[in-house]
Amino acid sequence: MKWMYSCPLCQKRRTIEWKDRKDSHKCHNTKNSYIPPSPSEQHSAYVDTHKWPKEMEDVVVKIKGKACTVPGCKKDFETLDHRVPWSMSGNTSVDNLFPMCESHNLSKGDTDYQIWFMFKDD
Ligand SMILES: [Zn+2]
Ligand SMILES: [Zn+2]
Repeated sequence: MKWMYSCPLCQKRRTIEWKDRKDSHKCHNTKNSYIPPSPSEQHSAYVDTHKWPKEMEDVVVKIKGKACTVPGCKKDFETLDHRVPWSMSGNTSVDNLFPMCESHNLSKGDTDYQIWFMFKDD
């Protein structure tokens, strides 16, 4: 799994292995070393897989809460939803993931959240 973030020193896009994110990396432009941003430090940073790491889920739930994100739904979240679907180039990032119950997530499927929300029956 890769971790894509923008370099805290020069803002350029960098890709590293997720498992190496706690190691020191060298900025190619400034030649200085830094520790890559974590999911809690850079919400737009993303992994290259549909499934998110637990560390990212914890940040999403901490920021957005434990309840299903669909208004009126009283359930606790059971999964995270890619608000912009993975199939439509939505990222697996803190920015694009929202807590959701299983039935709403199944109903939404691969549809964009805004469009699904407008047309859903319940
Ligand atoms: Zn850099
Ligand atoms: Zn729900």
